[in-house]
Amino acid sequence: MQVIDPATGATIEELDEAGPDDVAAAHAAARAAQPAWAATPLDERIAVLRRFRDLLDERSDALAATQSAETGKPISQARGEVRATLGRIDVLCDAVAEVVADEVVDDGEASGTREVIAHEPLGVVANISAWNYPWFVGTNVVVPALLTGNAVLYKPSEHASLTGLAMGRALHDAGVPADALHVLVGGGATGAALLEQPIDGIWFTGSVATGRRIAEAMAGRLVPVQLELGGKDPVYVADDVDVAAAAAALADGAFYNNGQSCCSVERIYVHRAVHDEFVERFAHEVRGFVLGDPADERTYLGPLTRPQQLAVLEAQVTEAVEHGAVLVTGGTPVDGPVGGTGAWFAPTVLTNVTDDLAVMREESFGPIVGIAAVDDDDEAVARMNGTDFGLTAGVFTTDEARARRLLARLDAGSAYWNCCDRVSPRLPWSGRRDSGIGSTLSTHGIRAFTQPKGYHLRRP
Ligand code: NAD
Repeated sequence: MQVIDPATGATIEELDEAGPDDVAAAHAAARAAQPAWAATPLDERIAVLRRFRDLLDERSDALAATQSAETGKPISQARGEVRATLGRIDVLCDAVAEVVADEVVDDGEASGTREVIAHEPLGVVANISAWNYPWFVGTNVVVPALLTGNAVLYKPSEHASLTGLAMGRALHDAGVPADALHVLVGGGATGAALLEQPIDGIWFTGSVATGRRIAEAMAGRLVPVQLELGGKDPVYVADDVDVAAAAAALADGAFYNNGQSCCSVERIYVHRAVHDEFVERFAHEVRGFVLGDPADERTYLGPLTRPQQLAVLEAQVTEAVEHGAVLVTGGTPVDGPVGGTGAWFAPTVLTNVTDDLAVMREESFGPIVGIAAVDDDDEAVARMNGTDFGLTAGVFTTDEARARRLLARLDAGSAYWNCCDRVSPRLPWSGRRDSGIGSTLSTHGIRAFTQPKGYHLRRP
C-alpha cells in the first residue's frame, strides 16, 4: 500500500496492508489479552492513558508533520489537532472512574436483597476510522475503549496510516499491552476482513455509504454498532447580528481543514435583511484565505486529501450554476503551489441556491459553501432540517431567547449558538438520521464501551 502526499501526488512510503490472516491473528491475540487488561486496576489503566497523553505532548511536532504530509492538512491545523487531543484525553481520563463505578441502587437494609449495577467491558472491539481528523476520531474511540478494559483492533483510514501507526506506537510505549491494541493498516478490504472476526462491537467513522455497508455486514451479529457519519451542517444568520463577526466565524467554520470536516458549515441561511452585506463580508474573508504548501505555517488551505473529491465539487458547481446559482468566488480546480499532481480546488462560494441542488443536499466535504436568503425564522428552521443529515446545526443571533427557541427545533445531535464547527469532549458527539447512530465523547461515549450487569445479592 502506498502512502501518498496529497499536495504533490508523490509516494511517501510503502506499507504492507494487513490481510485476512493478519486480521484473524490480531483478533485471536487481542481476545487472549483482553481479560488481563480488564483485570488491571482502573487506576493503572488511567495512568497508562495519561502517559500516552504525555507522549503525544512530547512528540506533537513530529506527529503533526506526519499527519500534514499524508493528509495535506496545513501544519498549523495538524498541530492544533494533536494539541487539542491532549485535552480530550484528560477529560476522558478524569471522567471514567465515575462512569464505570458500581451503582448501589438498593442497599438491601429493608428489602433483604442488595442490588448493584456493574459496568463491564464489551471485550474485543473494532474501530474503523476516517482520515480527516485522525487524532480526534481515532482517540475518541481507542482511549475510552481501553480505559474501560476492552481490547481494540484499530484500522485507521488508508489516508492516515502513518498517523495510525504512530498512535499505536505511543499507546504501546505508554504501557498498553502489545496485544490489547492492534493497529491494522489497509483499505476497505482490511476493514471488511475485520468485520468477519467475532468482535464484540464496531465503532465506525466515515461516509454514509460505507456506514450502511458496515451496518448491513453486522446486522446478524447482535453486537453494538456505532456509526459516526457525514453531515450537511446548516447555520442560520438572523437579522440582529454583527454581520462582519458572523461572516468571519462562519467562513472559518466552512473552510477550516479545506471543508473536510464532518461538522463543517456546508449551508448558510441568512435573513434577507442582512443577506447582501453578509455575502460581501463572507466573500471578503474567503478571498483572504492563504492557499499554499501544507508545510508552510502561513497556509490556511491545502490540497484535497482525496483527489476523487475534485469531480464531486466540480459537478456541484456546474449543476448549481446551470440552475441559476451565482458563483461569487472560486468554482474551479487550481494548480497546486508545490508542483506535482495534487488535487487543489479554489475556495468556492455560491449564492441564490435552492435546496434541491446537490451542493445544498449532499455532503460536499471540500472548500465549497452555499448561501441562501430566508424571510424569517420559520423558513430557516424548515430548511435547516430539510436534509437526510442531522449532525450539527447553528444559529447566530444576539437574542438568547430567540436562539433557544430555534435550537430546540433543530433535529441535530449538536446545536450551536453563535459558534460552529466545534466539538467538546464533555458533550456527546452524535449524529441523527444519516449522520449516524450512538455517541462518542462525554460520559455517553465512555459508557458505550461497557455492558451493564445487574447483581441481585441476598445474604443467607
Ligand atoms: P470512508 O467511508 O471512505 O472510509 C472510512 C473507513 O472505512 C476507512 O478506514 C476505509 O478504509 C473503511 N472502509 C471502506 N470500505 C469498507 C468496507 N467495505 N468495510 C469496512 N471498512 C471499509 O470515509 P472517509 O473518506 O475516510 O471519511 C470521510 C467521511 O467521514 C465523511 O463523510 C465525514 O463526514 C465522515 N466523518 C464523520 C465524523 C463524525 O464524527 N460524524 C468524523 C469524521 C469524519
